[in-house]
Amino acid sequence: MGTVLVVAEAQPRHAGNMPALAPISYELLGAARRLGGDDVVAVLSGTEVRPLAGELAAHGAAQVYVADDPALADYVAETYLPVVEQAICHAQPSLVLLGQTANGRELAARLAFRLGCGLVTDCTRLAVNAGTLVMTKPVHGGSAIAEYVAEAPAALQMATLRPRAFEPAGRVGAKPAAIVGLEVPAAVVAQAAERTRVIETVRQVSSGPRLKDARIVVAGGRGVGSAADWHLVAELAAALGGAVGATRAVTDAGWAPPSLQVGLTGATVTPDLYVAVGISGAVQHIAGCAGARTIVAINRDPNANIFKHARFGVVADYRQVLPALARRIAELRGD
Ligand SMILES: Cc1cc2nc3c(=O)[nH]c(=O)nc-3n(C[C@H](O)[C@H](O)[C@H](O)COP(=O)(O)OP(=O)(O)OC[C@H]3O[C@@H](n4cnc5c(N)ncnc54)[C@H](O)[C@@H]3O)c2cc1C
Repeated sequence: MGTVLVVAEAQPRHAGNMPALAPISYELLGAARRLGGDDVVAVLSGTEVRPLAGELAAHGAAQVYVADDPALADYVAETYLPVVEQAICHAQPSLVLLGQTANGRELAARLAFRLGCGLVTDCTRLAVNAGTLVMTKPVHGGSAIAEYVAEAPAALQMATLRPRAFEPAGRVGAKPAAIVGLEVPAAVVAQAAERTRVIETVRQVSSGPRLKDARIVVAGGRGVGSAADWHLVAELAAALGGAVGATRAVTDAGWAPPSLQVGLTGATVTPDLYVAVGISGAVQHIAGCAGARTIVAINRDPNANIFKHARFGVVADYRQVLPALARRIAELRGD
């Protein structure tokens, strides 16, 4: 396979918290190690991220490129891009893996254009078949699975990986890290500052898990009926220790914030359990939740499309089902 370069991400920094790798970094390393064996390198950009190089090495990166600079405190494509380009130039990988995250998808598209190589986004599986890399991803809103291979001869290939679709790398022991420091030229920083500036970072505070990381998601659709009834969805999510999701019909109506939208133009979630309440199952919504291990649908229309995707279905008015469900959960928990 040759060298696989992982473009790692650090968790966004908030006052007082220690630098940490984002979960996608471990997943990228896991996928890279399964393909590249020991020939895995990583690149990381940010502020105070140098201590994380050891963590990347301990999870399988034989070499770690780190750009640790106050100018990289906020993610800006113009400053992060040259760092990854330098790492590619130095490591000469045959494959570059990024996360299908807000940062990763922007960087990947720009890199592919600059380097003139192909890019397959949102992969859910990577495999090598007779020496050829096969990149698999859902297409047509999740209703079909496509396999992509690069046209020969492709010196460099690139893919972004869907969060939570790949097993994270385990520790390989305390391997000494071969760390290569990279710098962002001052001219690049100055030029970037002219074009893009982070004015404010708004941190969404919620009591439950983050939608994208949640193992349980309770999502509501237009069938919930009104903003006044939305609390029923939120209460079931809280009872199950899960996150709240919504369809576009709901976020457009303002019953829930746009950040909770699941689907083609919203978040892609891959929880163990996805409870769809009053959701018809439009292809654009399914695109965001088809990766859930188990979908439970509650809908009063027995012909609703969501039932084609659900493992368990309840044909009923959700107003009768949700309170009964919440009561049973409370009983089982001994509340
Ligand atoms: C380019 C594009 C991108 C889009 N992106 C997205 C996206 O990212 N995410 C997304 O969600 N949508 C997206 N959409 C919109 C999508 O096509 C659907 O319109 C939307 O998903 C429908 O939302 P819904 O299921 O909540 O509403 P509806 O389709 O109106 O379904 C409501 C369901 O609730 C059921 N219901 C009604 N009352 C009850 C009750 N009391 N109890 C139980 N069930 C009840 C009904 O039987 C029905 O099945 C996109 C559309 C386009 C064109």
